[in-house]
Amino acid sequence: MPATRLDGKKIAAEIRSEVAADVETFVSGGNPPPQLAAVLVGEDPASQVYVRNKERACEKAGIASRLDRMPAATTEAELLAKVAELNADPAVSGILVQLPLPAKAAGGTGIDERAVLDAIDPIKDVDAFSPVNVGLLMQGRPRFLPCTPHGIIQLLHRTGIETSGKHVVVVGRSDIVGKPMAMMLAQKDSTCGPAVANATVTLAHSRTQNLTEICRQADILIAAVGRPEMIRGDMIQPGAVVIDVGINRVGDKLVGDVAFAEAESVASAITPVPGGVGPLTIAMLLHNTLMAAKLQAAK
Ligand code: NDP
Repeated sequence: MPATRLDGKKIAAEIRSEVAADVETFVSGGNPPPQLAAVLVGEDPASQVYVRNKERACEKAGIASRLDRMPAATTEAELLAKVAELNADPAVSGILVQLPLPAKAAGGTGIDERAVLDAIDPIKDVDAFSPVNVGLLMQGRPRFLPCTPHGIIQLLHRTGIETSGKHVVVVGRSDIVGKPMAMMLAQKDSTCGPAVANATVTLAHSRTQNLTEICRQADILIAAVGRPEMIRGDMIQPGAVVIDVGINRVGDKLVGDVAFAEAESVASAITPVPGGVGPLTIAMLLHNTLMAAKLQAAK
């Protein structure tokens, strides 16, 4: 029997309408609407699409948004000044600097991404990339959760997939997806929102030996690699749950990190690409923006 498709789009819509209802209550309590400020440096077409999608999603949830466009030739000092301005603006609840910043080859000035992310006020850090928020997560007392792994936790929770005591293999150790994903799944009990945690986690990467054998031990396999269809059917334990984070453009098609047709005949459940993890990332960004507004209102 082919695997059940885990419908990220549907779950994201559910979360978005919950956030919208919560925003309405927040505003009717006399608060200004939450506002997400996005900073877009340069003209990268994919980044323009991402930012536009985020703006639209905000609008539907009753969240205000502002977009600060800066030229590709922006210097680090100019970008840091912009972040400082947004940090100081009481109307701004959450700040996101769209990554990647333009490379030198694309007209960029070689801005240190880390320095920019570090400059965002942790209480407005809706991407949860600042060292303070990463540290709080590490210690099991998270404030903001990074959007993509949090979306995956929500997906597992809302589709009734148990993680407690299960072996989860995460392939990919980026600061944005793999590392926080592993950390969240290993947390004790429900410190990361819904009661989905207590997993035994293996974090694999490009230096991992025997990747196939390790992946085959997974009850839940999460691929966040950025290599089209790298995870083949024979790397999956029959009956495992497969979460495909990858978004790779191949010709005019988007494909994941998992060879979907092969995986579908082995796994018990799988996320499609597109329509799996992607929509959840934006839903969790809205969640974090509302949370940021609430934190600031309570200050
Ligand atoms: P990164 O490039 O930052 O990290 C990729 C990770 O994969 C690295 O840890 C790397 O290992 C590991 N890796 C690379 N090659 C191999 C290999 N052959 N075997 C095992 N591990 C390998 O990517 P991101 O985490 O930012 O993104 C991963 C994918 O997820 C991309 O396709 C991206 O587009 C997508 N994505 C999707 C999102 C969504 O909303 N759905 C959000 C964010 C990302 P090493 O550390 O050793 O180099």
